[in-house]
Amino acid sequence: MTNRPADCIFCKIIERQIPADILFEDDDLLAFRDIHPQAPFHALIIPKKHISTVNDIAEADAPLIGKMALRAQALAAEQGITESGFRLVMNCNQEGGQTVYHIHMHVLGGRQLKPGLG
Ligand code: AMP
Repeated sequence: MTNRPADCIFCKIIERQIPADILFEDDDLLAFRDIHPQAPFHALIIPKKHISTVNDIAEADAPLIGKMALRAQALAAEQGITESGFRLVMNCNQEGGQTVYHIHMHVLGGRQLKPGLG
């Protein structure tokens, strides 16, 4: 893949330079377990294309972002939490709580999550 910042930890996971518990991979996406899980099931879905923040998503990336949502749906089904429910989160920039600047969708489930956000 092009334009990989040398210091991006998620790019390093894609390149297998650092380990991760990988749940899914195809040409466009990688999904792996969050290293600090906030729920019994906590995965991150990332595009292989380096996109720093939600603000950097381009119109042409719309199918890629759609694939992330569909992969979340599939991971939830694999975990048996389709009907019980789960949460998808994408944090953007500092006040959004983003700490890794390679976009990622959190998939959280397996327990009762608190209603609301914040
Ligand atoms: P965010 O705060 O939305 O940017 O989320 C970044 C997430 O990446 C956090 O939940 C971290 O626990 C997770 N994380 C950071 N480094 C790793 C890693 N090497 N492997 C798996 N998850 C990670």
